[in-house]
Amino acid sequence: MKKTKGINTICTHVGAIKDERFKGAVSPLYMSSSYAFEDVDAKRYPRYFNTPNQEGLSKKIAALEHAEAGMIFGSGMAAISHCLMAFLEAGDHIVFQQTLYGGTYNFATTQLEKYGVTYSFTQGWDTADFEREIKPNTKVIYIETPSNPLLTITDMQAVADLAKKHGLVTMIDNTFASPINQNPIDFGIDIVIHSATKYMGGHSDLCAGAVATSKEKMEKIWQSSICFGGSLSDQTVWLLERSLKTMGLRVKAQSENAMDLAKHLESHSDIEKVYYPGLENHPDHQLAKSQMHGFGGMLSFELKEGRDASQFMKSLQLIKPSMSLAGVESTVTSPVLTSHALMSAADREKQGIKDGLIRFSVGIEEVEDLVEDIEQALKKVKSNTVLV
Ligand SMILES: *Cc1c(COP(=O)(O)O)cnc(C)c1O
Repeated sequence: MKKTKGINTICTHVGAIKDERFKGAVSPLYMSSSYAFEDVDAKRYPRYFNTPNQEGLSKKIAALEHAEAGMIFGSGMAAISHCLMAFLEAGDHIVFQQTLYGGTYNFATTQLEKYGVTYSFTQGWDTADFEREIKPNTKVIYIETPSNPLLTITDMQAVADLAKKHGLVTMIDNTFASPINQNPIDFGIDIVIHSATKYMGGHSDLCAGAVATSKEKMEKIWQSSICFGGSLSDQTVWLLERSLKTMGLRVKAQSENAMDLAKHLESHSDIEKVYYPGLENHPDHQLAKSQMHGFGGMLSFELKEGRDASQFMKSLQLIKPSMSLAGVESTVTSPVLTSHALMSAADREKQGIKDGLIRFSVGIEEVEDLVEDIEQALKKVKSNTVLV
C-alpha cells in the first residue's frame, strides 16, 4: 500500500471513528458484544475481530506498517501463536531465529510438537544460518530484529529473498523497533507482529498484540484466529488507539535518549561493553542504518567483572527494575536473572549473555537525570566491590 501520510498523522488520525452524534474529538467506544445482523456477511462480534473499535484500530495498524490489512489481539503471544498456527500444520517445519523472545521460544519448544510441527533454531542470524536450516517441508521463517537482549540485527531483505526463493512465508517480531523505527513489509517480509503491550501501548498499562500483512494472508490468519479466540476487549482497543496517537513522539524521544546514553556508557570505566545498533562499533551498524528509520529505545550493557548486576539494579533510584519494557519510564532488567534464567549457563555463554548484562529500556525522562541515576548506582556497586 502506498504510504500517503506522515507517520504522526497516521498515529493521530487513521482509523478514528467519527462521533457523528455528539461531534466529540475522539473515537466513541462501542462496548456491545451483540450487534443486529445487517446482512449475512457482516456479523459483528468481538471474537470475530470486527467490532467498530477493533476495525478502526486495525486500519491504523495496517497504515503504520504499510500493509493492506491489520488485526488486533489480546496479547503479543496471542498474535504470535495465532499467526504460527494459521500457517503451520502437521508435517510442516519452521525455522526460528536463535535469539527469540522467551515466550516465543517457550511456545515453540512446548506446543508445536503436539500439533506435529517440527522446528529448528538457527546458529546465528546471518542469512546463511537461515538457509542451512531449511528442509523440504519448511513452511515459515521467523525472525526478530533488533533481538533481545543483545540487539543483533537480521538482514530483512536477504531473509525475505531467501524465503521467496524457497516459497516460504516470513514472519517478524517487530516489537523492539516499533513501526516508527522499522517497516519490514517494505523489505519483502510477509507478516509483521507486535507485542502492542510495549511501544504501541507505551505506558505500561495494557496488554495487546497486533499483526499487519496482505489481505490474502490476513484472511488465513483470521480464519484460524476466530477458532483460537485471542481477541482484545474493546475497552483496551480504545486505550491502545489513544496510546498510538503519541507513539511517534514517544519512540523518537526514547530513541534519542538511548543514543545519548549508549554514547555515555560506551566510554565509561565501569562498563565493559554496550550493545546498541546506533553505535558505529556495533557489528551491524551499517545494516541497521540501511533498514531502520531510528535505532530504537532498547540497549544493553555489561558491567565490568566483579560488579554485581542485581546490586546495581537495586541501587538505582529513578530507573525501575522491570520484566517488561518500552514504557515512557526507564526500566532495567537482568536477562540472566529473568528472561534467560531457565537457559543453561552453557547456552547463555553460547549466545553471549553474561552475568553482568543489564538490558535497559530507555524512557522519555531527561537523559541527564538517567545518567545521574546510573552514575550514583555504579558508585555504590563499585564501593561495595572494593569492600568485599
Ligand atoms: C513482550 C514481548 C512479546 C510478548 O508479548 P505479550 O504482549 O507479553 O504477550 C513478544 N515479543 C517481544 C519481543 C516482546 O518483547
